[in-house]
Amino acid sequence: MPLDRSSLDHAVDSLSDVLRDLAVQIHENPELRFEEHKAAAWIADTVERHSGVRVERGTGGLATALNAEIGAGAGPTIAVLAEYDALPEIGHACGHNLIAAGAVGAFLALVRHAEDLAGTVRFIGTPAEEGGGGKIELLEANVFDGVDAAMMYHPFDRDILAHRSLACLWLDMKFVGKPSHAAVAPWDGQSALTACMDTFRLVDSQRVHFRDGVRVHGFITDGGQAVNIIPEHAACQFSVRAREQDELERVRAIVERCARGAALACGVEVEIIPRRGYRDLRSNLAMARRFGTALEELGRTARLSDARAGNGSTDMGDISHAIPSIHPCLAICDQGETMCHERRFAEFAKSKRGIDTMLVAAKAMARTIADLLEDDSLLAEVKREFAESNNVGPVT
Ligand SMILES: [Zn+2]
Repeated sequence: MPLDRSSLDHAVDSLSDVLRDLAVQIHENPELRFEEHKAAAWIADTVERHSGVRVERGTGGLATALNAEIGAGAGPTIAVLAEYDALPEIGHACGHNLIAAGAVGAFLALVRHAEDLAGTVRFIGTPAEEGGGGKIELLEANVFDGVDAAMMYHPFDRDILAHRSLACLWLDMKFVGKPSHAAVAPWDGQSALTACMDTFRLVDSQRVHFRDGVRVHGFITDGGQAVNIIPEHAACQFSVRAREQDELERVRAIVERCARGAALACGVEVEIIPRRGYRDLRSNLAMARRFGTALEELGRTARLSDARAGNGSTDMGDISHAIPSIHPCLAICDQGETMCHERRFAEFAKSKRGIDTMLVAAKAMARTIADLLEDDSLLAEVKREFAESNNVGPVT
């Protein structure tokens, strides 16, 4: 029997206090990537208390990852993803507390109608989106095996169904020079800090050659030892981002060349340690549009895309290359009022508007999952689009 969509909405509404409390509790206890022990425990407890479904902790070998599932053995498997890590100093300024509560809400609403589900629904708690790539580790640990489609939502300053995100990587650079007394014998020293700073200047000089959408930004993680010593060591970290993987690699080579050039000019050594980042996000448009229809039924209209909105990076990008995925953005403040990673955004992530948006997201995700489970032609279209965008030919 098809699932009555309004009964999913009612289930979310009946849990609104529980979901709000969970979102606020996580917000008030920000934990950094891979250290989300309290948040993971609260999420798992909430799911178990309100569903009776057992939640696996430590999924895929990650201590703060979670997995739960319900439904029939036959039929497709759709996953709803939670994030719950925070940022240093500025806490839940990316609103991952709302992502977690929204995913819990969608899952619990579907659990209440488990007997009517035409397939399997999985709740996957994914740690460390902020620079840790928890989803990539879970993907490589085969946690996503058997999942036909995956979804999550992200708080933002406007409603966008299929917002682009950039491929990214990180470069740690360590410069080693020669220390000397900065006043008595500066000529004896070779400054690691000067090479570090020159790297930033050289990178800036190359920006004219970057393609649209490229972002290169860095900060100094070690600026020397004392004011009266020519710095023997200095270090910085760069993030390189681009719309496409090949441009990412091209710009990465330029940034590395700048560091080597700066080191050569200063007579110091440089070690460059690359760290794998995230792939660009390929939102599945068929699924994104269906999520948009669900939003409209809930009284909210979203654009498919918005070229004026800025783009970040997310490990959901890696999931989107492996499985048909969506990562819609939903406003928790007015357009342009503030943005992810700003202190004011953290305020909105615990506001009534943030909570109300989280409840709408939970309903829209639950409805979209029900659609994917019940509407064979939708899932076929989703898979066809995915296969074509990955150039592996249409699935049959
Ligand atoms: Zn985020």
